[in-house]
Amino acid sequence: MLLTITTTYSPATDLGFLLHKHPERLQTFELTFGQAHVFYPEANKEKCTAALLLDVDSVGLVRRYRGQVNENFTLAEYVNDRPYAASSFMSVAIARVFRSALSGQSKERPELADTPIPLSAKLPTLPCRGGEKFLRRLFEPLGYTLNFERHLLDAQSPDWGESRYFTVTLDTTCRLRELLTHLYVLIPVLDDEKHYWVDQAEIEKLLKHGSDWLSDHPEQESIVNRYLKYQRRLTRQALAQLRETDVDKIEEQVQEEVQIEERLGLNEIRLAKATEVIKHSGAKRVLDLGCGEGKLLRKLMAEKQFEEIVGIDVSHQALKIAQQRLHYDRLPDKQKERLNLFQGSLCYRDKRLAGYDAAAVIEVIEHLDASRLSAFERVLFEFASPQMVVLTTPNAEYNTKFENLPAGRFRHKDHRFEWTRTEFQSWASDISKRFGYTAAFHSIGPTDEKVGSPTQMAVFTRENSNGEKS
Ligand code: SAH
Repeated sequence: MLLTITTTYSPATDLGFLLHKHPERLQTFELTFGQAHVFYPEANKEKCTAALLLDVDSVGLVRRYRGQVNENFTLAEYVNDRPYAASSFMSVAIARVFRSALSGQSKERPELADTPIPLSAKLPTLPCRGGEKFLRRLFEPLGYTLNFERHLLDAQSPDWGESRYFTVTLDTTCRLRELLTHLYVLIPVLDDEKHYWVDQAEIEKLLKHGSDWLSDHPEQESIVNRYLKYQRRLTRQALAQLRETDVDKIEEQVQEEVQIEERLGLNEIRLAKATEVIKHSGAKRVLDLGCGEGKLLRKLMAEKQFEEIVGIDVSHQALKIAQQRLHYDRLPDKQKERLNLFQGSLCYRDKRLAGYDAAAVIEVIEHLDASRLSAFERVLFEFASPQMVVLTTPNAEYNTKFENLPAGRFRHKDHRFEWTRTEFQSWASDISKRFGYTAAFHSIGPTDEKVGSPTQMAVFTRENSNGEKS
């Protein structure tokens, strides 16, 4: 049973860092049902392929899982497709052999683990109960291009018809972690026959690897049913938990902050001001970092001056909402070309962020853990290094003015901190000094003599090498 993963990312051999497996070495792992081998049939700068080969011990299996494979037909315990077909054994092997990659960690290449790269996965023998249609319905909504060939039951006797086995190639550009989680969950779903009993722990596994993408997958129900072996109690619980992470729930959370600030129409003022400042700078290519549901993107799209507009958010769900709100699918081609949305974290260096005229970071930094803030500072001001940055954050001093906000509480559950004006300005001045920017400060919203305005904004402008504003 074989799985190969190929990338053409340059240098392609970085795949070895992502998988934590050296391209020049054959490695073998002992599993309860046999052995897994990892090796690279091809490894050069342009193209690199890693192979995961499972050598299933059928006799050992019968001893270990007696009664679970097929209870009615004893010979079937020995003569079956398990050693050859991709199944839940493959998922167990992925989780064991590529554990760090599956959780998105890479010691040597953390930024790359968080970057979508071109990937192609091939499974030479994938059993698909539900056939071609189901295969497509599982992978296409996740953005894969599928190539497959269905095998005959017996190549010598075509009249016997087709088997349920396919050779499948899945092509996409995504993070390696995403590809691995999709395979981990969907291989056993397609096979629809797990080699072990499922229990509560399986819900956790499913949600751990699937909650990002399952909450709005059109085949969510069949995936959950098959993954949990049609056990009603488990499937009901899993579906309920998935619903909690769905779009409506996230909207509800966003609403919380909106309600507190809404009397002031603050969001509108903030976004209008950010648009005005960026427009005034003459910028043509603009980033909206932590774009959320895309309210600023909509304003930027309305300005012809902006030729390229990129929205980035760590939340797949927020981007989905942005895409819907902006009616992305129905935009004329010319408008579509101006707009690009992608998932990414602002705490990891990302080549895609480099070279822009301006970046907006509206009400985002207070969502970052204090320990990640310094990573964000370098990602934006050192590596992405746009000509100008417009950044806003709540002014904590103003919180006493919100009647519906209890004293000492932040404006939003997810805020990690809210700064006073002095704290914000000293942070911004320090950044400016370290990375060669000058900062100007603006008050946004009604200004109170004592506590200032509800939102504070810093506009950073990059100095050129002579120390002057560029
Ligand atoms: N800028 C938007 C949304 C603000 S809410 C507006 O003004 O309406 C904060 C957003 O930051 C959320 O959408 C959240 O998903 C995103 N975010 C939080 N941490 C992030 C990170 N590390 N990288 C990218 N986006 C992040």
